[in-house]
Amino acid sequence: MFQWLLQCQAPRLPKAGETIHGHRFFTGFGGKGANQCIQAAKLGARTAMVGKVGKDFFGDSYIQNFKDNGVNTACVFQAPDVATGAASIVVNDAGENAIVIVAGANLLLGAAELQASLPALSRTTVLLCQLEIRPECSLQALRTARQHNVKTIFNPAPAVPDLDPDFYTLSDVLCCNESEAELLTGSPVATVEDARRASGELLGRGCGAVLLTMGAQGCVVLEAKGAATHHVPAPAVTAVDTTGAGDSFLGALAFYMAHYPALPLEEMARRANHIAGVSVQAVGTQASYPSRTDLPAELF
Ligand code: AMP
Repeated sequence: MFQWLLQCQAPRLPKAGETIHGHRFFTGFGGKGANQCIQAAKLGARTAMVGKVGKDFFGDSYIQNFKDNGVNTACVFQAPDVATGAASIVVNDAGENAIVIVAGANLLLGAAELQASLPALSRTTVLLCQLEIRPECSLQALRTARQHNVKTIFNPAPAVPDLDPDFYTLSDVLCCNESEAELLTGSPVATVEDARRASGELLGRGCGAVLLTMGAQGCVVLEAKGAATHHVPAPAVTAVDTTGAGDSFLGALAFYMAHYPALPLEEMARRANHIAGVSVQAVGTQASYPSRTDLPAELF
């Protein structure tokens, strides 16, 4: 998904019908799919985004942002009569927020655009999908990838409790966070033990591997071909803004699966933890994602 972020900071959240003065305004680029793609590109992956924006200022700017980060935009379509996806965010001085998301053009991505993206979808090494577009569209992209032996990563976010079971069988790696795992399994996921249990349940639904991210606790990895779950701790860092950390992790994972396919999944997870751990030490979402040149050589 593509999303323009329009963020105001104010002493408090406005009530219905009220106008108040804020003290800071900024815009940014967001949306899970776009964030993940930008992180993979920043690490040096050859990336292409499939998606839809409006034919408006925000859509044009988003396409330019992708080009500036070296992402191929041949499969980014522009809808003439619907606005680019946007999120209007108000944050108060206590750090609480109120957010309205309008998916806009993202929901117009459909069969025709997927057909036009077939050359890219069938020739890529790794496909990474989420649920911020119409689920049928992600499912169709995953099916196409499977038909062409493309490795698939599926990020069931935002999570829905009644996920089509085909999403599991079409995922080589299913990667989600604690709250998404809770919604998918119906059981609480707070501790590493909970995460091990939830991973086992999700794996049983037919995916090749499960990666369950747990914020400062790192992640848990479970592969169908492996016997045990592995907890991969995150490096201890001082987090200042964890927005988009999961997307940084996923972009890094896609990068390693495409460029270092022989690495064990556990090692990919360790390196992705490191990269996402760097992203939480700076404010912003895409702006906080490290590039290859910001990272130690041992990660490559
Ligand atoms: P989450 O979506 O919160 O599970 O975070 C995704 C990934 O970002 C985690 O698996 C960690 O690698 C990293 N991360 C998030 N929050 C922190 C934190 N406070 N300290 C270190 N790493 C973090």
